[in-house]
Amino acid sequence: MDEIIAKIDDPEMRSQIDKLVPFHGYLSTGAFIGLQMLQIATRLLDIKKGERIYVTSETYNCLPDPFQILHGSTIGNKGLKVLDYDKMAVTINKGAKPGQEYVEGVRIFLDPAKTIKYPVFHAWYMNQRKVPHEEAISELLKAGEDVYTWEYVEVQVPVKAKKDVAICQICGESFVKKDEEEICRGCAQEKNRK
Ligand SMILES: [Zn+2]
Repeated sequence: MDEIIAKIDDPEMRSQIDKLVPFHGYLSTGAFIGLQMLQIATRLLDIKKGERIYVTSETYNCLPDPFQILHGSTIGNKGLKVLDYDKMAVTINKGAKPGQEYVEGVRIFLDPAKTIKYPVFHAWYMNQRKVPHEEAISELLKAGEDVYTWEYVEVQVPVKAKKDVAICQICGESFVKKDEEEICRGCAQEKNRK
């Protein structure tokens, strides 16, 4: 893998990979795809280095990590939302200005109609056979932005709901109510299981 990374002549990408590898554990194909998606969004939305961005990843696999380590978009700060669709797609937008209901974002996906031009990478994507990360990433480096499709989207800015805290009638712990429920969602799930 080091040989492949050494071939990358973009110093910005090299430095991003240096931060990403210890965070993710290694340079996986999925994490590299996230990095390329981040590059596209950076250009399209004019995102500054380290600027706070909001990301919705459509998979838990690898893809969210570049956004977490390079832009601090985490689940805890609501900068990262993950939809469990198992799709290689992300939507990225900048923060909203006060009073703004919608903010412009971009949805980018890894397009199988385009990856088909890169047979080794396409075989990895479609899981047709075992393709080592080194080979998949080599092809992605050749392809660059050529395998992605994107469109601008309007992202709705979430409205901060008022926090209604209650004590659960079963476990006695406090929780934030969603509706008029009297027991916490943990206990509700336990009850359903019985
Ligand atoms: Zn409870």
